[in-house]
Amino acid sequence: MPILRDFFIKLSENQLLNSAAQRYGFKLGAQSVVAGTNIPEVIESMKELNRQGISCTVDNLGEFVYERSEAIKAKEQILEVIEAIHENGVEGHISVKPSQLGLDIDYDFCYENLMEIVGKAHEYNMHVNFDQETYARLQPTFDLMEKISETYDNVGSVIQSYFFNAKENVEKYKNFRLRIVKGAYKEPADVAYQDKQDIDLNFIEIIEYHLLHGKFTSIATHDHNVINHVKQFAKDNNISKDKFEFQMLYGFRKDMQLDLAKEGYNFCTYVPFGSDWYGYFMRRLAERPQNINLVTKQVFNKKTNTVLGVAAAAFFLGRLTKKNK
Ligand SMILES: Cc1cc2nc3c(=O)[nH]c(=O)nc-3n(C[C@H](O)[C@H](O)[C@H](O)COP(=O)(O)OP(=O)(O)OC[C@H]3O[C@@H](n4cnc5c(N)ncnc54)[C@H](O)[C@@H]3O)c2cc1C
Repeated sequence: MPILRDFFIKLSENQLLNSAAQRYGFKLGAQSVVAGTNIPEVIESMKELNRQGISCTVDNLGEFVYERSEAIKAKEQILEVIEAIHENGVEGHISVKPSQLGLDIDYDFCYENLMEIVGKAHEYNMHVNFDQETYARLQPTFDLMEKISETYDNVGSVIQSYFFNAKENVEKYKNFRLRIVKGAYKEPADVAYQDKQDIDLNFIEIIEYHLLHGKFTSIATHDHNVINHVKQFAKDNNISKDKFEFQMLYGFRKDMQLDLAKEGYNFCTYVPFGSDWYGYFMRRLAERPQNINLVTKQVFNKKTNTVLGVAAAAFFLGRLTKKNK
């Protein structure tokens, strides 16, 4: 369903809808996929997950950062989260998006912001993951990770298996703690696999490589076939459970999250919080339109369906006009 994927990715990039969602989203029930709008709420969600034997990686939601002041605000908020995780003694670490901390504004400015965050987390022995975003930000994000690792050892990043250079990167960065994913953005055919089967095969190969040769591996997927494969692979190759963890997103496949934790696997839930949930959620719909079931009843009322309808019409019309040109 590439057309639906394109549609939701386009929606995720729409700033107007993003602002509307920020204003009304939580009233409409976005909390099924977002763990709160503020720090006390996210800490409560983390405590609940911790009680079930699940650790967390916290993401302060935020997109479309073009002003230095916005990046600094995001940094301050993340520093507060780190402090709150420490003070409350909850089990968790931080995930950050370099674009939210100014990567699209100025590389050095982003570096300074990240250094402060990683330095604060280091004081509390807390890991910081640099989430990967679009292809244009891939190498700069790895460069930031490498540069910061000269001072602090508590950094890692993500390998997106849809990229042709994913294997090369997992080898290059094997000494880092890495999260391996399929990849969530729309990338062109000259840099990324487009076919699901190709992506899945690459995903498995990269996971296996890092489990065998790398530092700690986070296998981030809701795909039960991949999870079952990893369990068997770990057994067959005597890879102990403390060398890896499974990760899933907050609100998704909750039963499976619990089952994996009960089976004794390290399990970490990706916990997004904040009012800027819109782009994040649209990417989840792009991955799997059925995810709409998760929130249809709560998030989309008549009004938001109308907005989506209009956006859908504009999108399809845009495609048609492009084709006819
Ligand atoms: C913790 C975490 C962190 C991530 N970080 C990043 C990042 O930094 N950068 C990035 O680009 N991407 C990131 N992603 C997104 C990732 O790249 C994928 O886009 C996303 O996880 C969808 O792929 P999947 O592996 O879950 O399986 P899919 O290919 O979406 O699904 C495979 C199969 O699994 C089953 N399935 C999937 N979801 C469900 C469900 N909700 N309920 C029931 N069955 C289901 C279905 O049978 C489906 O056909 C992250 C994902 C996770 C979980």
